[in-house]
Amino acid sequence: MALVVVIEDESDLLELLEYHLQKEGYEVFASLSTMPVERLLEEETPDLMIVDRNLPGVEGSEFVLSLRNRGIDIPVIYLSAKSSESDIDEGFLRGADDYVTKPFNYRELMHRVKAVLNRCKPQLKDIIKYKDIEIHQKSREVYIGGKKISLTKLEYDLLLELYNNLNIVLSRDYLLDKVWNNPEDHQAKTVNVAINRLKEKIDPDKNKNYIVSIRGIGYKMV
Ligand code: CA
Repeated sequence: MALVVVIEDESDLLELLEYHLQKEGYEVFASLSTMPVERLLEEETPDLMIVDRNLPGVEGSEFVLSLRNRGIDIPVIYLSAKSSESDIDEGFLRGADDYVTKPFNYRELMHRVKAVLNRCKPQLKDIIKYKDIEIHQKSREVYIGGKKISLTKLEYDLLLELYNNLNIVLSRDYLLDKVWNNPEDHQAKTVNVAINRLKEKIDPDKNKNYIVSIRGIGYKMV
């Protein structure tokens, strides 16, 4: 669930914003001023901030600018009565991802929130395709030529590690360390056994050779 921070000093408006955002399924941190947000930022990284500009204490865009200068690049939508061309210009120069002028339409704002979140969220690439292998990362399912195969957790992790290092020879020690929970309890030959089992599952006819062994060194996926 995305965490959205709202900073707005008019409490009625703040409540309404909170209500609409929660209705859209967001977790909301609503604040009348920047101070509580400063404290929040010490512990959390919100996904988006909606920031009024005329705030008590510090001007909203100056607050955002100070965050940007500290390397905090959480997406920001300004929600402001400052609506002149130069105000909007200034807002974008001070780190806005979008700028909404008051009065505004809630529906439109929710669309803008969603659009900014979609644009900015780091994408975990769900489906990796390589040759005829598909690795579905979210569900941890693996398909070969469209057919689902069943891997143990260890075999899955091993396959993913090999894929993430395509064409790079990985030593048995490296694989033990990366994939096994208690590498110190295992010997290098544990890796050989697991690799052979994995190969048997993903290439039962032994004609695709996704994983090759490099004698005396380790394995690589090609
Ligand atoms: Ca205000």
